[in-house]
Amino acid sequence: MKNLYKLPILLIISFIFVSCYPSRQLTGKRNPGVKNVILLIGDGMGVATVYAAMSASQAPLNFERFPVSGLQITYSANAYITDSGAAGTALASGTKTRNGAIGVDENGNPVYSVLARAEEHGLATGVVATSSVTHATPASFIAHQSSRGSYEDIASDFLKTDVDVFIGGGYDHFARRADKRNLIDSLKSRGYDVVTDLQGIMGSDSRKLAGLTYPGQPPYRLKGRGDMLPSSTARALEILSRNKKGFFLMIEGSQIDWAAHANVADTLIDETLDFDKAVGLALDFAEKDRHTLVIVTADHETGGVTITGGDLKTHEVTLSFSTKNHTAVMVPVFAYGPGAMNFSGVYDNTELSKKILSAFRFSDSKKKK
Ligand code: MG
Ligand code: ZN
Repeated sequence: MKNLYKLPILLIISFIFVSCYPSRQLTGKRNPGVKNVILLIGDGMGVATVYAAMSASQAPLNFERFPVSGLQITYSANAYITDSGAAGTALASGTKTRNGAIGVDENGNPVYSVLARAEEHGLATGVVATSSVTHATPASFIAHQSSRGSYEDIASDFLKTDVDVFIGGGYDHFARRADKRNLIDSLKSRGYDVVTDLQGIMGSDSRKLAGLTYPGQPPYRLKGRGDMLPSSTARALEILSRNKKGFFLMIEGSQIDWAAHANVADTLIDETLDFDKAVGLALDFAEKDRHTLVIVTADHETGGVTITGGDLKTHEVTLSFSTKNHTAVMVPVFAYGPGAMNFSGVYDNTELSKKILSAFRFSDSKKKK
């Protein structure tokens, strides 16, 4: 009898708990789940290219550390075989568009990327690429242009975002422009530390970093780019992880595609191994952090690569290319971290960003129109 007075108190506490939970969701606060997402895109990297790199490597690759794998289908809105603009837009924004388009739908209307959504919700964001930052894949996360070749317009679009870190080539698209505008000064006045080499990237302690390391496209790793990709990845992770709300980071191994277009097996494998190092850094970060989802995929396959011979003891591998262009084959997806299981199976490339958004559990309340 003495304890009966506790009953109404318990009921009141339960009522408060139950009634608060849905309102938390409606107010747009994030439920506990994934804090950070690192999306790594190997441009043109099909399954044969991944296995060629695995076969050539003395040690197991980071690709082999993922507990979950899947396959995604890459056709674009107007072609069975996609380009990197349409595929990048599908991966970034969940919308099929025509080849050559960047961050716009088939009718030219802007579509917003998972990076833009993360930014809206106060997360830190970044893109790191071994191409110019204005090239199709990184541009798909930032810009809204009907033509991927409009590099200077794409550079201008960087200033319409609040992206915290961007690293790659393309300095001239900001500095030596047909319209004579100097976007380097605009970046500086908006708080970016603008640096032009790897030393500058590693030495910068700024919360906002523009690493524009080459006038146009960087060279292959073997031709002088060196450790730019893994080093930039490490630096980007250090800077972005200071944001307590979390971050979204896209990292691209851009030149896997270029080596495959050129049908040069050694360079293709080397660029894939370089990309795998960035994958390893992302996984190391996620293993420590425990609230980070890591996804590795490609935008499409390039080269129609097949493996016609090899030896796992000598790590020799013989590749054969069936085209100098892209192909329609499905591309691999590897996932690690909370929510990784959602990335298994066979699905369309437009599903990827939807899966990322559902992992972040953003509400739609701040959706851009
Ligand atoms: Mg690319
Ligand atoms: Zn290509």
